[in-house]
Amino acid sequence: MTVQFDRIALIGIGLIGSSLAHDIKRLGLAKEVVIATRSAETLKRAEELQLGDRYTTSSAEAVKDADLVIVSVPVGASESVAKEIAGSLKPGAIVTDVGSTKASVIAQMQPHMPENVHFIPGHPLAGTEKSGPDAGFPGLFEGRWCIFTPLENTDERALKTLGRFWETLGSKIDVMDPAHHDKVLAIVSHLPHLIAYNIVGTADDLGTVTESEVIKYSASGFRDFTRLAASDPTMWRDICLHNKDAILEMLARFSEDLAYLQRAIRWGEGDKIFDLFTRTRAIRRSIIEAGQDVDAPDFGRPHTLDKKV
Ligand code: NAP
Repeated sequence: MTVQFDRIALIGIGLIGSSLAHDIKRLGLAKEVVIATRSAETLKRAEELQLGDRYTTSSAEAVKDADLVIVSVPVGASESVAKEIAGSLKPGAIVTDVGSTKASVIAQMQPHMPENVHFIPGHPLAGTEKSGPDAGFPGLFEGRWCIFTPLENTDERALKTLGRFWETLGSKIDVMDPAHHDKVLAIVSHLPHLIAYNIVGTADDLGTVTESEVIKYSASGFRDFTRLAASDPTMWRDICLHNKDAILEMLARFSEDLAYLQRAIRWGEGDKIFDLFTRTRAIRRSIIEAGQDVDAPDFGRPHTLDKKV
């Protein structure tokens, strides 16, 4: 069963907000979509792209009479947005977010949420390295997970309604405790990004030694890290600061495992190296079997001969 809202307010209209706007329009999920973003420049672009029906730089103005409010801003901005919208929310409205960390967003937003609204924290596990309103596209959430981390006493009907909304976008729903979410995401998303930022930073620091070679020979592996390392600096700074404990724990584990690998290489322990690389190869297979990636070589990039056909 699909779901339709009278008015949806989108607070933040970057990659995630604009992808939501495309899908809401495409699937007819709201009679009216109101878009709010803090800068006049982004707002103008959202209007040019015709992402909504009404546009404002005031989040408080946008949420008036909205049945569903979706906050899609960097996680560090959650508290200021919550404060701004709190006094204007419609009784009975569902307020959700898409932030990549959950315990911190809850700590920032929950104290400001009036008792008569349903605050349901969420996180769609979908995205790209691009940001801003031009980066969004219809179908981003199709086949991807959306995790809810509901609070105690969350209204079941509101949770079901929000679940139906995400299911209509093609997402699969999971429900988790916020601390567990933050731990899982630290390993599947936050640590890989930090490794990528670090490796690309190291190559950059090598400076004159590598200069042109880094770019010239990047296809040998480095290039795949640069996609992650091109992700939005504000968003990722906030994730680091707002999932600090879980990230530090995963970084410690990572450093230990790296030392193990370093040692195996130093002492020529080929069996240990081979066993690890065999285990990791199997993980790639499981990801493909779970439908989380396609089984195309080189991530499906076109190669010279493919382009000619
Ligand atoms: P984005 O493309 O950079 O867009 C950010 C939006 O938030 C813009 O509308 C921006 O407004 C607004 N914003 C930025 N700083 C703000 C502040 N201090 N106060 C109020 N508004 C502010 O970001 P995004 O990729 O859509 O990410 C949005 C959220 O989704 C983040 O919490 C992120 O963790 C989460 N998320 C991202 C991904 C991903 O792959 N990108 C995936 C899942 C979840 P102006 O442009 O007007 O300044």
